[in-house]
Amino acid sequence: MTQAQSGAQAPVAITFADLALCEPIQRAIADTGYTAPTPIQAQAIPQVLAGGDLMAAAQTGTGKTAGFTLPILHLLAEEHAHNIKPGRPRCLILTPTRELAAQVEESVQTYGKHLPLTSMVMFGGVAINPQIARLKKKVDILVATPGRLLDHCTQKTIDLSGVEILVLDEADRMLDMGFIRDIKKILALLPKQRQNLLFSATFSDEIKALADGLLHNPGFVEVARRNTASELVTQSVHLCPQKVKRELLAFLIK
Ligand code: AMP
Repeated sequence: MTQAQSGAQAPVAITFADLALCEPIQRAIADTGYTAPTPIQAQAIPQVLAGGDLMAAAQTGTGKTAGFTLPILHLLAEEHAHNIKPGRPRCLILTPTRELAAQVEESVQTYGKHLPLTSMVMFGGVAINPQIARLKKKVDILVATPGRLLDHCTQKTIDLSGVEILVLDEADRMLDMGFIRDIKKILALLPKQRQNLLFSATFSDEIKALADGLLHNPGFVEVARRNTASELVTQSVHLCPQKVKRELLAFLIK
């Protein structure tokens, strides 16, 4: 357990300047108009910059994407890369859906626009050939859904031996969608020495088992309480006979 074990007691940096991100990233943040880091960013960014593994409990809408994208861009920009080759990414971000993959890669581009780093998004349901063509060039950060990434691994159109940082984004949804076997196959292709970040909105036993096998002495950050619904949603229960359910629902909606 680390100092940021509990979201409520963690020291929260007030400004982006406190987070010591490099100047081109600070400039990109200023371009977006963000004035201060969100709680997940204030907690996660220093831990990712420190280089350790991290488990983060954060729902969509908390700013979690910048929470991992900003420090990853910083680390990749600062660290001298070894053995750079086309189609050999230094960072792999796995997401459950193509929409999320596209959104995350857009964030990488937005926050990395003043850096010489390159990125690519990869998902299934579209032609593979343009992806193969793109992999013939330099890719620092790859955002991918598991199935299509494995297709590329099988075809040897990608080389995962240079991955320094792995992110599993919305890991709970990936497990719900049945990606666990694909994820395990991908993990087996990565170098043993790497930084691992796991983001999940909920922490089921299955997620904990995945985290146990994946993360080494991880830090933990949390902004929403474990396994609770969003506080913005008010919930109530109305017990009623089956036959009036539809009518009652219509009444409540009105
Ligand atoms: P996410 O939870 O990563 O999906 O982000 C939710 C939204 O918050 C996105 O539209 C981001 O552009 C926005 N966002 C991220 N960080 C900040 C910030 N520090 N200040 C204001 N908005 C932010």
